[in-house]
Amino acid sequence: MWNILYTLFLRILLFFGVILSGEAHADVGYFWHVSDFHYDDTYGKTGQSCSFPVSHPGPFGNGSCDSPMQLIEESLKSMASIKPDADFILWTGDNAAHIPTPEFSLKRNLYMINAVTSAIKRNFPNTLLIPSLGNHDFFPADYTNGTESELYDSVCQMWSAWIKDPEQINNCRRGNHHRPRLPDHSRHYECRSNSALLPYPGNHHRPRLPDHSRHYECRTNSALLPYPGIIIGHVSPIILAIMNVGLILPSFPTQVIIIGHVSPTIPAPFVLNWFYSQYQKRYVKLMTLFSDLIIAHHYGHEHKDSFKILQRDENGSEASPVFLAPSVTPLRGIQPKGEQGTRHNPGVRLVKYDRQTGKHLNYRQFYTNITEANHLGRAVWRELYSFQDAYNVPDMSVSSLRKILKDMAKPFSLSMLKYCSFYTVTPPLGEVCSIKQQGAFWCAAQLTNVQETEDCIFRYIHGFKANVRSWFCARERVVCKNSKSQNDRKS
Ligand SMILES: [Zn+2]
Ligand SMILES: [Zn+2]
Repeated sequence: MWNILYTLFLRILLFFGVILSGEAHADVGYFWHVSDFHYDDTYGKTGQSCSFPVSHPGPFGNGSCDSPMQLIEESLKSMASIKPDADFILWTGDNAAHIPTPEFSLKRNLYMINAVTSAIKRNFPNTLLIPSLGNHDFFPADYTNGTESELYDSVCQMWSAWIKDPEQINNCRRGNHHRPRLPDHSRHYECRSNSALLPYPGNHHRPRLPDHSRHYECRTNSALLPYPGIIIGHVSPIILAIMNVGLILPSFPTQVIIIGHVSPTIPAPFVLNWFYSQYQKRYVKLMTLFSDLIIAHHYGHEHKDSFKILQRDENGSEASPVFLAPSVTPLRGIQPKGEQGTRHNPGVRLVKYDRQTGKHLNYRQFYTNITEANHLGRAVWRELYSFQDAYNVPDMSVSSLRKILKDMAKPFSLSMLKYCSFYTVTPPLGEVCSIKQQGAFWCAAQLTNVQETEDCIFRYIHGFKANVRSWFCARERVVCKNSKSQNDRKS
C-alpha cells in the first residue's frame, strides 16, 4: 500500500516538474548546416586547388588545399553518427574546388557537385536536403548570366531524388517554378525557383519543411547575389523588382528561415563588401523590412564561424540574427599580399530548434583537427562549443546576440576571446586576436556598410587605447595630458 502511494506521489511530482519546466509542450527538432565542401579530385596527385606546393599531403586534408573525398566522407559520417535523424540539412553550396578556370571545365565542375551529392545521399538517404548553390558551383566560378542550362539541367537531375516528381524536375531544369516532393510520405516540401538561379536576392527556393512546421518556412536565396568578383551577364532592375515582390506574396507564412551562400553582411576581420553595393543595400533593406517574419539567416562562403545581427540601423531596429557556418574545406586561401590566409579547422553544425515555431534554441559546432587526423590515421570529430553554454544565453535570438555583443564591446572580454577562437573553428586556447581584429568582429557583427564599419573599428581601437592610457596614468600617478583620467581628476 505504502509502495503504491509512494509511486503515485513520485508520479505527481514528476508530472508537475515536467509542466513547470515547460518540457511537456516542447517539440524540439534538429537540423544540420554544412557548407563549402570544395572537393578536389586531384588532391594527393596534382593538387590543382593547392595554393602552395604540398610535398606530403595527409589523407584527411591539408590547409593549403581543398578537401579530399575522405574528408568529405568523414564529415558526413560524423554528422550521421552524431544525429542521423535530423529533420533536414541546410547545404549552402561551393562544392567544386578552387581550380583556375584554364585548368577546369563545366564537366569537372558538375562531376564534383555530383560526387558531393552522392556522398550526402550515402550518409543521409532519407533526410530532406535544402540546397543553395555557391559561387564555386558555377563555371567559370563567380560567373553567371542566368542561362546556364546545362548546369541547372544536371543539378536538377542530381537532386531529383529529393524533388521526386518528374514534372517538377522538368520545371527545375527549365528554371521555372518547381515543387519537389520527398520520397518519405510524411516529409514533403515545396520548392519554388523563379528562372533558376539568377543573381538576384529575391530569386529563391521555397522548400517546405516537415509537416510539423506549419508556422514557418525556409527560403534559400540564390548563391549569386552579385558581388564585385562576379561577372554579370544581365541584370534587369524590373526583374529584380519582380523577384523581390516574390518575397511578399499573400501566401507568405508567419515565419521564415533564410538560407543562401553569401551573407549580405560585412565579413571580418578583412572588411569588404562581397556584393555590388546597390544589390547589397537592396537586399539588406528587404531583409530588414521583413525582419519580424525572419527567424534567422544561415550562410556559408566565408569558410569561418561567425554570427551577426542584420539590422536597419545602429539603433537596432528591424533586426534578425545571422549565422555563418564554417567550411568543410580546410583551405586557408591567399590574402591580398600573397601570404596564406588564417588556419582553420573543418566544421559541421547541428542546430536545435522548436518545431512548432521555428525558433532557434541552440547549436553545437563540431570540428576535426586534420593534422591530428593525418597523424592518427582517423578523423576525430569533437564538439567545439555549444552556443548557449559558451555565451551563456538562452537561445539564438537577436536579444541573445545583443547580450553577447554588449560583452564584446569590451576588448579582451571573455565573449570576444571566444568569438575570435571560434571564428577559426579552434578551441579558445590559441592566439589572442589583435585589438584591430576584435574591433572588426564587433563592428561587422552589427553594421552592413563598409565605411561605417571602418569608422566603428577606428572608434573601438581609439577607445581601447584611451582606456589603457587612462589606466596607466592613474596607476603610475603620472601626468598624462589630454587623458580622460586627468580630466576626471580636475572635475
Ligand atoms: Zn567556399
Ligand atoms: Zn563561396
